[in-house]
Amino acid sequence: MEVFLNFLECIRIRSHIPDGIAWTCSSNGMFSMRAFCEALEESLNVNIAVPDFIWQGHCPPKIEVFVWQLWRGRVFVKEVLHKHGMDQMMDLECPFCQDDNESIDHIFLHCPWSRSLLLNGMSWWGVKGCVNNTVNKWLEGWIGLCPEFKHERAWCSLFFTIVWTIWEYRNQLVFEGKEPIFQQATDLVKFRVVWWFKYLGRGSNDPVDTFLRNLPDLCVEHKKVKVNKIVDWIPPLPDNLKFNVDGSSRGKPGPSGIGGVMRDSNEKVLCLFSFYVGIFDSNVAEIWAIKKAVDLYLSNPNLHSRDITVVSDSKVAVSWVHQSDFGNIQHVSTIYDTRNSMKSFGSLKVVFDSRIF
Ligand SMILES: [Zn+2]
Repeated sequence: MEVFLNFLECIRIRSHIPDGIAWTCSSNGMFSMRAFCEALEESLNVNIAVPDFIWQGHCPPKIEVFVWQLWRGRVFVKEVLHKHGMDQMMDLECPFCQDDNESIDHIFLHCPWSRSLLLNGMSWWGVKGCVNNTVNKWLEGWIGLCPEFKHERAWCSLFFTIVWTIWEYRNQLVFEGKEPIFQQATDLVKFRVVWWFKYLGRGSNDPVDTFLRNLPDLCVEHKKVKVNKIVDWIPPLPDNLKFNVDGSSRGKPGPSGIGGVMRDSNEKVLCLFSFYVGIFDSNVAEIWAIKKAVDLYLSNPNLHSRDITVVSDSKVAVSWVHQSDFGNIQHVSTIYDTRNSMKSFGSLKVVFDSRIF
């Protein structure tokens, strides 16, 4: 009772302020995650701060969550599973090099395969070596390695892309026995950096393949040309496929490039393409991108039992495929071929969606 009365004694009642609930860990009485973390750190005497760049939208949310789990040591590599008492009989060997145990630090940082992927990615910006001993130190120091502020967004995106790609190839090897092809992984890292950067509405209007050839010069922050709505990518239904495509031109007309990525319901990348197509305007580049995706699907009979949706962010190009009114007579054969393919393959459809990444 005495303690309680002492407590009440300390409280000053201000008659001019209405009653309300206040969060005492913040000076303004409002709840904030930052204040909560600071209070938690103080009471537990631990450091739980997350490196700032994790939650900045540099990549799809799912991958941000993955990097956060990585930083917390919660990615289930063999050593972590073993420590938690799961699958005690499992060998702990790294599936890439079989030379060491598969710990988080090994698979994402020290394994020669992963390290080459990392150093290769860093070399696109002219950054060499300087890789820390632990994943956490590496993550915390990543921004410091960025050569210039204008590259920061793409540089952060590179980090997310590399760790996500390593994890993807590791899982394909462990669960499907698929040998990792280094060059393919390198291309995928590059493609993802460009793809995410462009769909964050940044960079220039250059075609995807121009970006790929000149990554550090084009993925720069100060150029902001269009803003697309970013949402997490929605996978197709089980056993179905989704082919996101993109085409763009530098000028009207101008040098044009196309790109696309085919994924299944597990978000596994089955096919990638990206190349220069000639001098066109952007709508024509978009239709070429759709046609390329359709052709790739048709050329692989193994895929024909699965429904596929080709997704373009060009309303005009998609309407050309569906309507009888051809917008650009010069490219009527391209549109006609695409439409015929759609008619003869009930499993194939072409749709518009501006929310792709
Ligand atoms: Zn290894």
